[in-house]
Amino acid sequence: MAGRLTLIKATMLAIPAYWMGSTWLPDSVLEAIPKKARAFLWENGSRRGMHLIGWDTATRPKEEGGLAIQKLTQARTALAGKLLFQVLNSWEGWQALWQLPLAPRVHLFIWKLCWGILPTRAYLHGLRIGPDEKCALCGIHPETIDHLFFSCRYALEVWALLAQDQDWTPTKVSHVRANWLCDDAQDTAFKALIAATLWTVWKQRNARVFRGENDTAKTVVRRAVQLARDYAKPTQQMLKPTRLRKECRWVAPPPGWIKVNVDGAHSPGDY
Ligand SMILES: [Zn+2]
Repeated sequence: MAGRLTLIKATMLAIPAYWMGSTWLPDSVLEAIPKKARAFLWENGSRRGMHLIGWDTATRPKEEGGLAIQKLTQARTALAGKLLFQVLNSWEGWQALWQLPLAPRVHLFIWKLCWGILPTRAYLHGLRIGPDEKCALCGIHPETIDHLFFSCRYALEVWALLAQDQDWTPTKVSHVRANWLCDDAQDTAFKALIAATLWTVWKQRNARVFRGENDTAKTVVRRAVQLARDYAKPTQQMLKPTRLRKECRWVAPPPGWIKVNVDGAHSPGDY
């Protein structure tokens, strides 16, 4: 069995993981692969002993007595997060985020989303704070960031309506889950609209949790488009390139000193 396990990890699960580094594989694919892996693991000679171990146990970490076979949907989320994190960890990523013509609170929200620290129910449940990890919008699946914004049927309806409203091509739609923030081929208005949509989905989720409000996906899309438009105009006027920019260079501190550079910005009414 150990040999089969090694083989599964090295091939059937490693190959999709490679693809997931750059591509978003659909749920159907990620569900089909472990089924094949499971059938292979259970086959023939060791069938009898293996009956005692369920697939859930097999996917549990070794410290918990499992075989540490990583669930592919989890791996996908981790990899997508890693991808976004790498983006955000770069100077270009930061610039791209803070230059989006949106309120600082939306920037902060996107920043949290990319770092995977939004207080979703699954996140809180993982910290043993929340009693229930079920998604607030559909009530079926665990409310992870990936589920809430990209896999939940409510979110899927939002993206579909937005794509329809904005006449997005399928290629453009595929950017939503990938590296939208740093893709130079995409314009700022598109990036701002994605950020605004993620934000309004989150606001809707909170309205559902805290006030029991049930707005339609259509309303959410309308709000997102309006938000992106509201910010686009005044910011574009304000963001004319200034010629007064000073030449500013970082200067090393004297020996024995540590220099901490910080920066901040605040607009009234943002918090
Ligand atoms: Zn859901």
